[in-house]
Amino acid sequence: MTLCELAPAHIRAIAPYQPGKPISELAREMGLRDADIVKLASNENPLGASPKARAAVAASLDDLALYPDGNGFELKSALASGLGVDIAGIVLGNGSNDVLELVARALLGPGTSAVFSEHAFAVYPLATQATGAVGISVPARAYGHDLVAMHDAIREDTRVVFIANPNNPTGTLLGADELHDFLVSLPARVAVVLDEAYGEFLDEVLRAPSVGWLAEFPNLILTRTFSKAYGLAGLRVGYALAAPDVADLLNRVRQPFNVNSLALAGATAALDDGEFIARSKAVNDAGMAQLVAGCERLGLTWIPSFGNFVCIEVGDAARVFQSLLHKGVIVRPVANYGLPTFLRVSIGLPEQNARFLAALAEILEQA
Ligand SMILES: *Cc1c(COP(=O)(O)O)cnc(C)c1O
Repeated sequence: MTLCELAPAHIRAIAPYQPGKPISELAREMGLRDADIVKLASNENPLGASPKARAAVAASLDDLALYPDGNGFELKSALASGLGVDIAGIVLGNGSNDVLELVARALLGPGTSAVFSEHAFAVYPLATQATGAVGISVPARAYGHDLVAMHDAIREDTRVVFIANPNNPTGTLLGADELHDFLVSLPARVAVVLDEAYGEFLDEVLRAPSVGWLAEFPNLILTRTFSKAYGLAGLRVGYALAAPDVADLLNRVRQPFNVNSLALAGATAALDDGEFIARSKAVNDAGMAQLVAGCERLGLTWIPSFGNFVCIEVGDAARVFQSLLHKGVIVRPVANYGLPTFLRVSIGLPEQNARFLAALAEILEQA
């Protein structure tokens, strides 16, 4: 037996996560300049990062030789006071991806299962599988979470239900009442991870009062990130909010210095820049309207989205994706999410959206 053959079967069965194609890679492959490429593939913030976050990161360079604060006290304090939560219920992660893995590692393992929706964020099945637990994928309803079917899919050995709201890649949103009813209906032995990576893009009236639910549901784990609206995807920082005993459990499986000092400083400063978040949302709202209007002109359909991206039905998505690459436009194929006729397009700046729409129009004309 080789080394790899001796690895546990559940590890060998994992299909690696497929990230968006980096600009530098396409530039190398196509002989293009970075500046000529538009990347709308990873739901990144087209405005970049908040100036306050940038300044804080630059200032923290003086401390590079020192280990970061392993408890992330300043960031947690800022989160606790901003959100009105107990600091003991906060877990910081190297991106919220890290937090999702901590949940899986702490609560799942062989002989257990986790429930998630078809077309939901790819990290849920990956993190589940890596622990040796069984992933239960529940058929979607209108591309979104079918909470009734998810409730029915819960088994005796189910320990975690993952819900992305809004969902990536489909952009679907569950209403607050529906979610609350679901939480009420679950046994307390099942954790509900409510992943709010795109929450900042929602209009105020559409936001679930999820932080308030933490006191009501000791099995609720909220996850959030600085990668999307805050524009800090490269720094890698996210967090979970949970009951203090659950947070303590997650912290036991966390690497002691999982969030680096630049990320801690940048995220803390970003929290203090509400104006930047408002601007990010405004750019996103306008860009969504622009893309949707463009699709309408082209006679295309799309899945109405509450995130900073939209899935557009283009037919042979693999071919259209390749043709877009040849025109220097990177979007995201979502065949691996069970959506082989769609492309997911992140909302960019007006000129980036226009560039994508023009390239798409040319490709569809030639077909
Ligand atoms: C992007 C995303 C995340 C988190 O990304 P991080 O950069 O690891 O914080 C989490 N959940 C969903 C649904 C996402 O789309």
